[in-house]
Amino acid sequence: MDNTFKIYVEQLREGREEKFSEQINPDFIDIHDNGLEFKSPIFLSGNAYLAENELIIHWNISTEALLPCSICNEWVTVPINIENFYHCESLNEIKTGIFDFKNLLRETILIETPLLAECNQGNCPKRKEYSKYLKNSSNSTLKQDDEYHPFANL
Ligand SMILES: [Zn+2]
Repeated sequence: MDNTFKIYVEQLREGREEKFSEQINPDFIDIHDNGLEFKSPIFLSGNAYLAENELIIHWNISTEALLPCSICNEWVTVPINIENFYHCESLNEIKTGIFDFKNLLRETILIETPLLAECNQGNCPKRKEYSKYLKNSSNSTLKQDDEYHPFANL
């Protein structure tokens, strides 16, 4: 049985806490399409403990996502760092006494993943070439999404 994502509530009784210090294979995120990939390990630290009738999870998460540059389409590595993420789960919801945090971790990472990226720290070398497609090529990396639809051809 895979225990990677499991928190056993009984082990947290009487003020005990579980400490996280893990390096997790990103395969569980299970996204492989033209717009997003995860290949770097996920570093998870923090702790879990009980407060009143709730399980409290406190995490620091860091990993990297791969997104295509929205201009030249080369893969761009985008660092994802989530600090002091808190989640409360009512113990009434954890009927088995085991909280499986796989989906919580997956969603937390995906929410923090940008939809668009640009290579070369936001200064894609092809930007000039494509600048005629951009509304305002001099000072905007954000306004281009009206002009360019990276997912339109999926
Ligand atoms: Zn680029």
